Amino acid sequence: MSDYDYDLFVIGAGSGGVRASRVAAAHGAKVAVAEEHRVGGTCVIRGCVPKKMLYYGSHFAEDLEDAANYGWTIEGRSFDWVKLRDHVLADVDRLNGLYTKTLENHGVERILERATITGPHGVRLASGREVTARYILIAVGSWPAMPVVPGIEHCVTSNEMFHLDAVPQRLAVIGGGYIAMEFAGIFNALGSDVTLLNRSETLLRGYDRSIVDRLTQISMARGLNIKLNAPFTKVEKAEDGSFLVHCGKGAPVAADVVLVATGRAPKTAGLGLENAGIVPGKGGAVPVDAHGQTSCESIYAVGDVTDRVQLTPVAIREGQAFADTVFGNKPTIVDYDAIPSAVFSHPPLASVGLSEGEARNLYGKVRVYSSDFRPMKNTFAERAERGLYKMVVDDATDKVLGLHLIGPEAPEVLQAAAIAVKAGLTKADFDATVALHPSMAEELVLLK
Ligand code: NDP
Repeated sequence: MSDYDYDLFVIGAGSGGVRASRVAAAHGAKVAVAEEHRVGGTCVIRGCVPKKMLYYGSHFAEDLEDAANYGWTIEGRSFDWVKLRDHVLADVDRLNGLYTKTLENHGVERILERATITGPHGVRLASGREVTARYILIAVGSWPAMPVVPGIEHCVTSNEMFHLDAVPQRLAVIGGGYIAMEFAGIFNALGSDVTLLNRSETLLRGYDRSIVDRLTQISMARGLNIKLNAPFTKVEKAEDGSFLVHCGKGAPVAADVVLVATGRAPKTAGLGLENAGIVPGKGGAVPVDAHGQTSCESIYAVGDVTDRVQLTPVAIREGQAFADTVFGNKPTIVDYDAIPSAVFSHPPLASVGLSEGEARNLYGKVRVYSSDFRPMKNTFAERAERGLYKMVVDDATDKVLGLHLIGPEAPEVLQAAAIAVKAGLTKADFDATVALHPSMAEELVLLK
């Protein structure tokens, strides 16, 4: 391997790239990682982590409201966006430091510059320096995909939402996926007048319909204005600096901030894939085999850039599997079956395995069990919102094929239950487990 400057050159220090770099280094490889923004990537710097902090911050709105029935009087309560925003950004700085330290501790060289592929073993840095590596790992992630419509330059993406000067009085959210539902919920709770515009009738495509319908109903009851079949066609800037969002046949929606959350695309433009003979796939994704290897045998790719499953824990697994396979003499293939996921909406929802529709298509005869319940915490607070837990079971084998939850702390409950689904346990196994009372999670073993 000494013919090259490095054993491994990683492009992108996000979740997948950092894991691959440090594990490869721990296996004895000489590793460098190039990053044009900040170490940590989307999840840590402008995604999951700061979003979850804003989510927690916004949740106090309902917690403080509910506190009255629990005997608490909170006088003069007020909310300071700048304080929350700056605290979140400071925590992002702290995490950026921790990720940097992790790389340092493993002897990974950090190069804070943009890198471009020049050949199967070659990389050019923005400074002009050329380096060579036995292997190159593409871990550049994804970036918000912006529809081509007039006035799109007036819109912001999730990247900018963490830096707003103030909570917008009127927020328009374009899209009906993860980011749209999460930010709509956060800013609705923080007091914005939020209108969500979705091009079709289907919000959160891929999630079980009953759970999504429950979220839609609760969100609307909480004041979120949801417009379905509202294709986004144009944004106009008014003289007072606000915007008018045109969406199909309905009246245009006035907004102070327009958030576009219409998916994320692999960030491969200008990466030099052609110099290594790699032909990008749909939307610019880097095509890879089960080991993450591209059509160029010395170049691998992990994470969002491959556009398989755009989730941080998946990118981390792919980074680990790559490093173990190539440098640890331990060939590993990532298992994509039964990946749990969650939407941090208000209330949150979480899911693992097949939705009822998917299960019926694949298995034919399935049984569906559910519990439609009002969490004790909500009842006591006189909050009408109900939770819904749903289990989809293969009729022939009794195996649990899918679990779909909405309600307070649904992601926390789901993560533990996902172990049972992944292990292939049956409805009878769930029923044989004694309920932990009183809890919301006990509904999982009492499903009828
Ligand atoms: P999603 O793929 O979740 O949703 C995109 C939404 O935009 C869909 O409703 C889609 O509609 C709509 N859309 C797509 N193109 C257009 C268009 N041209 N005009 C109007 N609407 C359009 O993407 P997000 O941006 O919300 O999130 C990106 C990824 O980030 C997600 O796939 C997810 O993997 C990840 N993420 C995960 C989170 C989590 O785990 N909690 C949180 C945030 C992001 P349609 O359904 O009709 O295609």
